[in-house]
Formats: sequence, C-alpha cells, structure tokens
Amino acid sequence: MLLTDVKRRRHLVTLAVGGELHLHTGVVKHDDLIGANEGITVRSSKGARLVAVRPTLSDYILEMPRGAQVIYPKDLGPILMLGDVFPGATVLESGVGSGALTTTLLRALGPTGRVIGYEIRDDFADRARRNVEGFLGEDVPLEIHVRDVYDGIDENGLDRVILDLPEPWRVVKHAESSLRPGGILVAYLPTIGQVARLREELEESAFGMEQSLEVLHRTWHVEGQSVRPDHRMVAHTGFLTSARLLVPSG
Ligand code: SAH
Repeated sequence: MLLTDVKRRRHLVTLAVGGELHLHTGVVKHDDLIGANEGITVRSSKGARLVAVRPTLSDYILEMPRGAQVIYPKDLGPILMLGDVFPGATVLESGVGSGALTTTLLRALGPTGRVIGYEIRDDFADRARRNVEGFLGEDVPLEIHVRDVYDGIDENGLDRVILDLPEPWRVVKHAESSLRPGGILVAYLPTIGQVARLREELEESAFGMEQSLEVLHRTWHVEGQSVRPDHRMVAHTGFLTSARLLVPSG
C-alpha cells in the first residue's frame, strides 16, 4: 500500500498480518489496512491521518529500491508509444538496470508477450527481477541474461529493441539482424552528443524514420487564487530516439 500523510510524504509498505509501520507521526497497524477499501483514511497511534491506496506503477517505480538509475515515469510512457509496445510483443531490453522500464514493458505487453533482458551486471539483474516481481508477481514472461549486448543479440524476429546504456550505436548492427522488418528500435540517452553519434550510425544502417525528442513535464501549483507553474521542475532527464527497420529498396 501507499500511505500519504497531510504533508504529502509517501510511504510504500508491503502489508503483513500483525505488521506495524513506524513513522515519526506514530505507528500504523497493518491489520487496520488489510481487507479495507482503497482510499480509506487511517489514524496512527499519535492521531496523524494517512490516506491508503494501492501504489500505481509510477508510485512503485519512484519508491522501489534502486541499483542503477531508473528511467522516470515521464519518459516511460512516451517510450511505450514511440516503441509502439503492444500486447503479445517480443521485446529485447538492454541494460535492465533496476527494472523500471522492464516492469513497464511487461505490463504493456501482457502475459502473451515476452521481455528478453541483457544486463552486464549480475547484481543489477537480481535487483531488477526482485523489483519486477514486487509489482507484477513471479509469473511474468521475463528472462534476464547476464551478458554484454555489444557482443551481439542471439534472438531473431524481435518486434522491438529498447536500449538504455551508454553506447547504443554499438547495438545498431545487432538490432538490424535481430529485428523483424518494420521492427522498432528505441534508445534513451542522457546527452545530445550520444544522440548525434547514434543518429550517424542509424544513417548508415537499414533503419529509417528516425526521430529524436525530449519530454518536458511541468507541474502546477493549484491552491485557491494561486494557480501557476511550480517554481521547480526537472529540466532534464534524457533524450529519446526511435527508428524503424526498413527493407532496403533495390
Ligand atoms: N532502464 C533501466 C536502467 C538501466 S541503467 C531502468 O529503468 O531501471 C543502464 C544499465 O545498463 C546498467 O544496469 C548497466 O549495468 C547496463 N549496461 C551497460 N552496458 C551494458 C552492455 N554493454 N550490455 C548489457 N548491459 C549493459
């Protein structure tokens, strides 16, 4: 459950019979929440009010334990659209990192789809699997291979290849031979130099219809007469680049 107090502080908790959540605003008994409706308000032992709901995928990603830096919900939604990730799709993802994108992909492609993850660090692969299972359960169509994607991709007929690693241009040739025609490559990159390097490599490949973009997300302060953009925003996370595998014309 996600518990939010009057100051909008958020606490993610896995409920257990007899369990207790200790906050400096008092103790909340898990038994007060188990079996209760989502959206109820509970009181801590010191009388503090907390609203309880099931976490959304965004809530979960922002609160889950991290190994590698995650891709944020702001960019995860657009990645699903740029990659046109559909139920039943077979997607190769590399690196897997903390599993934020993996969880998002698995949820979109559903039980008939498949995510094949290539991750170079076995500790990150383990962390990612635990994070995925913490939200989606153990029965997910996910296989994670501890290997370097720059060395090649074994699978064929992939629908999508989605990359979040430093040198995605080194994966373009492998993606070219592993995607089906019309398949889509998406890469998330923090700096524009990397984007330029990737675009050069795509230019020399069978990929076409390339596009690069960034997503700006500005929240607003809404309180009585004071309705205006928040003073602070996350000005930059990363750039998204996508391309489609085309059949070369004769
Ligand atoms: N998208 C992930 C975060 C990925 S961080 C998330 O949302 O949680 C980048 C990951 O790529 C790291 O875990 C790193 O170990 C891995 N990585 C870097 N180079 C790699 C390579 N050549 N092959 C496979 N994984 C790689």
